[in-house]
Amino acid sequence: MTTKRHYIVQRDDGYKNILNKVKNIAVLGSTGSIGTQTLDVIRDNNHLFKVFMLTAHSNAYLLINQAIEFVPEYAIICDESKYQQIKEALSHLPIKVLAGYNAIKDMVTHPDIDMVLTAMVGFAGLEPTINAIKAGKDIALANKETLVVAGELVTGLAKEYNVKILPVDSEHSAIFQCLTGEEDNKIEKIIITASGGPFRGKTTDFLASVTREQALKHPNWVMGAKITIDSASLMNKGLEVIEAKWLFDLEVSQIDVIVHPQSIIHSMVQFEDGSIKAQMGLPDMKLPIQYALSYPNRVKSNFKRFDFMDYPNLSFEKPDVSTFRNLKLAYEALNRGGNMPCIINAANEIAVAAFLTNTTGFLAMSDIIESCMQQMVYIEKPSLSDYLNTDKETRIFAQNLIKEMPLKALQS
Ligand code: NDP
Ligand code: MG
Repeated sequence: MTTKRHYIVQRDDGYKNILNKVKNIAVLGSTGSIGTQTLDVIRDNNHLFKVFMLTAHSNAYLLINQAIEFVPEYAIICDESKYQQIKEALSHLPIKVLAGYNAIKDMVTHPDIDMVLTAMVGFAGLEPTINAIKAGKDIALANKETLVVAGELVTGLAKEYNVKILPVDSEHSAIFQCLTGEEDNKIEKIIITASGGPFRGKTTDFLASVTREQALKHPNWVMGAKITIDSASLMNKGLEVIEAKWLFDLEVSQIDVIVHPQSIIHSMVQFEDGSIKAQMGLPDMKLPIQYALSYPNRVKSNFKRFDFMDYPNLSFEKPDVSTFRNLKLAYEALNRGGNMPCIINAANEIAVAAFLTNTTGFLAMSDIIESCMQQMVYIEKPSLSDYLNTDKETRIFAQNLIKEMPLKALQS
């Protein structure tokens, strides 16, 4: 039996009976794409799950409406200027309203929370997740950046504090579902599927002039802006390769990516005897969200069912890593280890934000990431404070790069 798979897939640990009691869930990033779909799942299963905490960055309007519907113990907004508005709007309800990022970091440790679902976007997910793990909370992990930045640290803590990290990302949920019942069997490799995004099959020349609007049109999934751009650039797949390494304790050589444009097979595991298990279904994040919340049980749902007759042709291609360089850069960062994945994550967050505000071009995003990989100080065994510094310094460096880039590069 491998050692690391233990903490996420062990079934005989008393976890089975968890659904006998209503689970108190802290939903971090409740106003986003994953957050709102999590609330859909909870609404449909209110005999199983209760919202204990809602958090948002600045969307006060939606947070207020969610709080009125779910009446959590806590509603937390990062943007402190929205505090009064929320406090007043919820004054007739028994909800504690708090403001600031530190409030999220502190309150995820509340003794009454059973599980923390991390659906905030980016590096901001790291510290609340670490605090929740240290407080013994199981994690339903959507925020893949947490494992990209500090996978070794975070999975090490999960083992130390005996908590489960249950994947929400559809590919990782698929792998996780394929592994259930296979705890003693060695994985030969995993095959992560990628839709290929809106620019599948396009050339570098074409990508040189694509706009944010084109990049935001994902063929199969409706998601937040950052992950949608990551999907268009294949960085999302790179981040998922790193996420998978840490979740399933794999060597980099055991992780393959294959383009599957229909997004019906969500990923696969190949075992030592050559057998491949795949998990399939229509693209709908509510299924992996629900599985993470209800694991190890499956809960009856009314999600639309997949019909093979609607998809007579499921197809597969090799990813084009010379046009979509980010996937290659992510593998390289994973191979180099240390703080290198943290560097690519920070550089990518800045590059994507710049692309979304039309201050850099689509192809320039890979140049920014590559320059950061070359220029930032490499740390082989980073501590948490090294990760925090690396993130900060890389962001500054990437921002300066963008300012200094000639207009031509910005447009390409
Ligand atoms: P969204 O942009 O839709 O939502 C992000 C959420 O996080 C919002 O609630 C937002 O608040 C909050 N937030 C943003 N920045 C901060 C911050 N600095 N501090 C605290 N909270 C913040 O993102 P998604 O739901 O698409 O993605 C969330 C995470 O899940 C990402 O890590 C993504 O990679 C991952 N994921 C998403 C999938 C999807 O289908 N969407 C699939 C698989 C993984 P506000 O609304 O106020 O801005
Ligand atoms: Mg995914």
